[in-house]
Amino acid sequence: MIIETVDNAQVVKVRQSWLNDAMMCLERGRYGINLPDWNKGNDATVLGTSVHTAIERVLTAQTSAVDILDQYPEILRELIASEDFKYMSMTDESMEAYGLAMVEAWRRDIMPKVKFGGRVEHKFNTHLTNVETPNGKNVEVRLIGTMDYIDPDGVIWDWKTAARKYSQLEKQKANIQSSVYALASHLMEDNPLPITFNFGVMTRANKSVGQVVPVQRTSAHCEWIKSQIQSVVRMGLSMGLENSWPQNDQGHLCSEKWCPWWSICKGSHLSEMENRWNPEEGQ
Ligand code: SF4
Repeated sequence: MIIETVDNAQVVKVRQSWLNDAMMCLERGRYGINLPDWNKGNDATVLGTSVHTAIERVLTAQTSAVDILDQYPEILRELIASEDFKYMSMTDESMEAYGLAMVEAWRRDIMPKVKFGGRVEHKFNTHLTNVETPNGKNVEVRLIGTMDYIDPDGVIWDWKTAARKYSQLEKQKANIQSSVYALASHLMEDNPLPITFNFGVMTRANKSVGQVVPVQRTSAHCEWIKSQIQSVVRMGLSMGLENSWPQNDQGHLCSEKWCPWWSICKGSHLSEMENRWNPEEGQ
């Protein structure tokens, strides 16, 4: 969530990635607004960006689906040299091996199902609604973001470099990104609902597999995500950014490894030993 002042009026801009964080833990959402620079990329995000760049080159006809495999190592090397990121579980060599396998999986298993001629890296910035602050001010809420690809028929695609395959039912039931993108496309371009959103998933493995996971978003999904956004924005504006928002440590991403703000949040209360104490160890 970005809070801006335009012509003396407050405007709140919401990205799906921020909404994902805030739905998981509201305090994480507040830190994302106050200390965004702490949220540094890691080896998995650099790998993901390199694969996205390779796919983009094919979809925009800058190169062929055959030649991209020769070009990929250079794309990755340039990103490794230019990005500031943390190594979590991979080396440069394993990143290259996984990246090549994933580009090959995209070419083999996903590309034949993609209709060419659409828009790549399609940015959106659209009015969603207005909410009222506790002191009676009217605030505009906008949706912003970038779709990996929207095909000529209005089908939205997002490329995922994932540790494992996706469950279609899980994504259909509660995925935020597909709802936000479908709503934005409907509002901005009158893309008719229901809208199909396809995850093009490439598993992170030396023998990567490509998977197309379709999710359908109807007007009911759009109303629901709009209601969720309104409630989280209203809550944020009423609480302000100075004091903590509700801290939820129940998800698996609440950890030293996966929460960038751990050291000033749960990690400032509990030592690693207290957090991971196990009666079996040290006896
Ligand atoms: S450490 Fe846990 S509770 Fe604190 S912001 Fe991160 S996810 Fe939320």
